[in-house]
Amino acid sequence: MITGHTRLLAVLGDPVRHSLSPVLHNAALAQAGLDICYVALPVPESGLGSILTALWDMEFLGLNITIPHKQAVMAHLTRITPEAVAMGAVNTLYRGESGWCGANTDGLGFMEPLRQWQGTRAVVLGYGGAARAVVWGLGQLGCREIHIITRRSQKLTVEAPAVQFHAWSEVEQYLPQCELLVNTTPVGMAPDVTASPLTAEQLHTLPPGAWVYDLIYTPRPTKLLQMAAAWGYRTQDGLAMLVAQGAAAWSYWFQRSAPVEVMTRSLEAYWQG
Ligand code: NAP
Repeated sequence: MITGHTRLLAVLGDPVRHSLSPVLHNAALAQAGLDICYVALPVPESGLGSILTALWDMEFLGLNITIPHKQAVMAHLTRITPEAVAMGAVNTLYRGESGWCGANTDGLGFMEPLRQWQGTRAVVLGYGGAARAVVWGLGQLGCREIHIITRRSQKLTVEAPAVQFHAWSEVEQYLPQCELLVNTTPVGMAPDVTASPLTAEQLHTLPPGAWVYDLIYTPRPTKLLQMAAAWGYRTQDGLAMLVAQGAAAWSYWFQRSAPVEVMTRSLEAYWQG
């Protein structure tokens, strides 16, 4: 029951209505018996600073930050964790003594399903917001060669070893030695579910035993993952990352672990309608 004592968490973004964070956090908060509600708030770029001040004054317990504010929010924080500084982006705000503090749980979320992965060479398709956390995570996992395939020339914004940028026309050179392929582009995301960033033939040049990880979580599986599974590669979709980045925020907000199973089931139930 929502009462006058109920505290609030929110995700700020623009657009933000598609966010699944309210689904997974509210299910987990209810299961944990916490008198806290999580909402999605549309925040235009021009309003970010004043809204953060207002939410601080209204005693919001914590916040998530999504597109397009993950970089801009850093100017409004009293402390930023070293991981978030290294990624150049913040997705989680928690209360400090005198103002909002920032962290980034996307990198940990990305790494979660890769605990068993033991390779050192990865190819990353795309270099947008999520790819920064991916590259940071790959560095943490001991990856020694990271080939980023991007449509435009890029500057590295994340500290990571042995990162090289390449054009899409060069992707085939790097697939035969690739032990982990990560799709960070939105190609293949609903509603464009028949699209894939690579052809079946290109995918089949990956070595046996390679992992194919698509950050997309709608649809499950994507066309890319369907083709990878058909060729016998190990596949991973974006659901575990989505849940793990949300669960990691609980350690900043409540200093406790989150009911990860409840979060996962809430999303599966949401998709099943
Ligand atoms: P973003 O900042 O817009 O970055 C997207 C990247 O994909 C950019 O580098 C862009 O390339 C590239 N790209 C877009 N369309 C392309 C195309 N047709 N061909 C080749 N490259 C293309 O988006 P984001 O926030 O990183 O999100 C990317 C995807 O990851 C989305 O599908 C999102 O849902 C998913 N995601 C999942 C999770 C999770 O928890 N599972 C978390 C975050 C994001 P250019 O730079 O060349 O324009």
